[in-house]
Amino acid sequence: MAAQKKPKLAVWKFASCDGCQLSILDLEDELLDIAGAIDIAYFLEASRATMKGPYDLSLVEGSITTPHDAQRIRDVRRQSKFLVTIGACATAGGIQALRNFKDVKDFVSAVYAHPDYIDTLATSTPISDHVKVDFELHGCPINKRQLLEVMTAFLAGRKPGISSESVCMECKRGGNVCVMVAHGAPCLGPVTHAGCGALCPSYNRGCYGCFGPKETPNTESLSAWLKELGMEPDALRRVYRTFNTNAPAFREESARHGG
Ligand code: SF4
Ligand code: SF4
Repeated sequence: MAAQKKPKLAVWKFASCDGCQLSILDLEDELLDIAGAIDIAYFLEASRATMKGPYDLSLVEGSITTPHDAQRIRDVRRQSKFLVTIGACATAGGIQALRNFKDVKDFVSAVYAHPDYIDTLATSTPISDHVKVDFELHGCPINKRQLLEVMTAFLAGRKPGISSESVCMECKRGGNVCVMVAHGAPCLGPVTHAGCGALCPSYNRGCYGCFGPKETPNTESLSAWLKELGMEPDALRRVYRTFNTNAPAFREESARHGG
C-alpha cells in the first residue's frame, strides 16, 4: 500500500524580528510529533532544505515594507491552500508601523549614510492589506500553545479554538488582584486580546497590549479611566502606539489624543 502523503507546511518571513518563527522551534516536546505528521517543506530558519509548493498551510511572519515583499506575498498566497498570519507584525504592521505617522524619507536620511540604496514603502502594513488571510494569530510574540492549536486545526480541517476575549478574563481566571483597581497602575488588559495568560498582571504590572486589540474593544472607556488615573494626553496617545500601533482600534484611539 502506498504511503499516505503528508500535508506540507511552509513558514515565511517578511519584515519582523523572527520571534514568532522561534515559537515554532520552541514547541520542543511536540516538534518531533509535528515533524512526523507533516512535511516541513519550507522553513529557512530551521533548515536550508526546501520543497517546492504548493503548500497545505503557510504561516506568515512579518509586515509588508518593500515593493519586493508586496510582490512576494502574492506569490506565497498563490502557492498556499491556507494562509495564517502570526504575530503583531503580520497582523497589524508591527512596531515598524510607527513610520506610518511620519514621512519615511526623514527616517531613511537620518539613519542611512547612503539613503539612495534604500528601496522602501512609505508604510508598514499587515499581510491582510495585500492578500486574503484565512486566520490571524495575535501576539508579540505569539503563544506557542495557540500556534499548535491553529496548526492542528487547519490541518484537521476545523476552525481553531482561539478565544477573542480580553486579557482581563485570563487575569480573573488566574486569580490575580487587578493592578488598575488595587494599585492605580495603567493596564491595557480590558481592550487587549487574550492569549498570554495575563502574564504581566501576574507579575503585578499593567498590560501594554502586545497581543493587540480584542474584538470590539471599548478603548474610549478605557482611556477615560486612564485619564482619571492621571495620564496626560501625550501619554494616552503613546500608550496605544507600540507593537500594534497600526491596528485600527489602537490607531484611532491614539489619534483621538492628538498627533
Ligand atoms: S490587572 Fe489589567 S488585565 Fe487584570 S483585570 Fe485588571 S485591568 Fe484587567
Ligand atoms: S499582559 Fe499584555 S503586555 Fe503582558 S504579555 Fe500579555 S498581552 Fe502582552
